[in-house]
Amino acid sequence: MATVGSVTRQIGALDISGPTRAPAPTSSVVRPIHTKQPSQPNVAKLLTKFAAPNLHQGQTNSSNLPPPSSRSGTTQPAIDIGRYDGGLEAENEKRGDVVSGEAADDLALDSSVSRTYPTQEWSLHSFDMGRPLGKGKFGRVYMVRTKAAPKYILALKTLYKSELVKNKVEKQTRREIEIQQNLRHTNVLRLYGFFHDEKRIFLMLEFAAQGELYKQLSKHGCFSERRSARYIDQMTDALIYLHGKHVIHRDIKPENLLLGMNGELKIGDFGWSVHAPGLRRMTLCGTLDYLPPEMVEGKEHNEKVDYWALGVLTYEFMIGAPPFEDRRSVNNTYARIAKVDLKFPPTISSDAKDLISKLLVYDPKQRLPLKDVLRHPWIVKYRPKAAAPDGASAP
Ligand code: AMP
Repeated sequence: MATVGSVTRQIGALDISGPTRAPAPTSSVVRPIHTKQPSQPNVAKLLTKFAAPNLHQGQTNSSNLPPPSSRSGTTQPAIDIGRYDGGLEAENEKRGDVVSGEAADDLALDSSVSRTYPTQEWSLHSFDMGRPLGKGKFGRVYMVRTKAAPKYILALKTLYKSELVKNKVEKQTRREIEIQQNLRHTNVLRLYGFFHDEKRIFLMLEFAAQGELYKQLSKHGCFSERRSARYIDQMTDALIYLHGKHVIHRDIKPENLLLGMNGELKIGDFGWSVHAPGLRRMTLCGTLDYLPPEMVEGKEHNEKVDYWALGVLTYEFMIGAPPFEDRRSVNNTYARIAKVDLKFPPTISSDAKDLISKLLVYDPKQRLPLKDVLRHPWIVKYRPKAAAPDGASAP
């Protein structure tokens, strides 16, 4: 099961290029360059188009573009980023050894030197630190604001290099960061940039204002059909985008999803993140509930693993537990997965059952194509009128 935790995989050349940028290098072909290119003084260079703007509370930003006022840099910060607890320094004192050799090269990650065009050089001094957002396996996450105008709100995530090395994920982490920074979709958490110091890597992530979806699910037990359908609509759109970029997620589950400021779903964990394979779920239930039959049986797999997981996710959203969960033992769960032992409580609508049954199909080739998921009556029924499938739709 060692492969389950590497949630994003590049299965082919990434076909990501824009008018102003060349395709991103992947770790397999380009080693880190330690000589910095001349940097642009303009902080907005990297963040202009997509970063979470420093909006007033309640203000929406459907275009994802910063409002003109903050773009000009004349407004005062509108969002309270909270109080910094000094946690980064305290943690840095106690945690993590200095990494050397090849691993140090692998983890010398700096977005200002990893691209073919110049961009801002970043360091901890570039940010006003705000409240802690949480702790992950490899370090803490903080709400921050860029010091220079326009003052963008971000989540800054720390990864301790020595701990990545200890867990043997340094190469994977590097590759996944490089993939992640090239993904641009409303429902995929953006990685704007990254930098490092002796012990740590810092990821500049889109701030997901409503936090973890998993917490919402735990709080409510399960979601209404409407809310579930809207999340699945967004999730499907994001998966179509990822698969179009030859990226298979492979670790879809509520724990890896965040919510944006309008309640929109954000796929927030791309392997460079904190969790060992299914760690939380293993701790909670002792199972790996989202594995498809082909992975349980150790067969080759492809992007259709995400179709299966989408079915499991739909089920868990509505019922509050994954469909093949068996708390007695992992083997029982695996057996139920392999048999596709799917049962529905009577409360589930026939449309929802129909969609789940078409995704949870043993043969990967027979699973409902994602474009058909977007057209499925259950999804269409609950899609907000006049909204694009990937739009921000508050549940
Ligand atoms: P992680 O290390 O990704 O599990 O993050 C630890 C905690 O920080 C999570 O439980 C989230 O609540 C929070 N968090 C992580 N990333 C973000 C983000 N981009 N926006 C808001 N909160 C986040």
